[in-house]
Amino acid sequence: MTIGEGPSGRSRGGKVRVKTARKRSTSSTRWLERHLNDPYVAAARAAGYRSRSAFKLKELDTQFNLLAGIDRVVDLGAAPGGWCQVVLEHRPRARIVGIDLLPIEPIPGVVLFEKDILDDDSEAMIKAALGGLADLVMSDMAANTVGHKQTDHLRTMGLIEAGLDMATRLLRPGGDFVAKVLAGGGDSTLTSALKKAFATVKHVKPPASRKGSSEWYVVAQGFKGLALGSPAPSSLADEHAEPPPA
Ligand code: SAM
Repeated sequence: MTIGEGPSGRSRGGKVRVKTARKRSTSSTRWLERHLNDPYVAAARAAGYRSRSAFKLKELDTQFNLLAGIDRVVDLGAAPGGWCQVVLEHRPRARIVGIDLLPIEPIPGVVLFEKDILDDDSEAMIKAALGGLADLVMSDMAANTVGHKQTDHLRTMGLIEAGLDMATRLLRPGGDFVAKVLAGGGDSTLTSALKKAFATVKHVKPPASRKGSSEWYVVAQGFKGLALGSPAPSSLADEHAEPPPA
């Protein structure tokens, strides 16, 4: 097997080994090796999903029944389209609107925008394409990393807060919000905003999420139809399906 410039092969355990190449850094080689040996990557390819992330949504759906009966869905940070595919599979007649900075290969039955969610007109475009309030808003967005852990964390948390802010204007009362978050502090503002706006808020790490990664998912269900900043009723539940991120 030849990958890039370096010859590669399989170890006795059947794992693909990638030799370092002059133009590839050690960390890229490690990433490539992990990618090639990742059972979720192989399963995604076999199932025709565009991303291994598709399995994260499938696992979250199994646990929280997110996709049952939904008719309108927004996918923030949708490229390359794995989550859209999963929603379409479950609800072929649903109105699905995806948006991403990156271009996405068309998916029949899905409205896709190549756009920054932070653009002034993004929300209006999504609303118009949805044709009504959403049952589910999903965000798998992650900011492009700059290599400085704290900066990367803050940028991604900022994106997630923007996603939540938008979700509170797109969702119908009773609707759900699922978003990727990062462990490591700085998310208490987000969690308290979620607790104000939704009946239940849970942090989970689906099995398809790599163990070494700091990503978690927040699943907020039962949108109260309140604008952010409204006083929180005392009966709010804050259950964690697993321990919350550090
Ligand atoms: N759930 C997707 C799937 O299954 O195919 C994978 C999403 S990928 C992990 C995260 C995406 O968030 C990237 O494609 C990135 O371009 C997008 N993203 C990051 N910042 C964004 C922004 N400001 N507006 C729109 N998309 C953004």
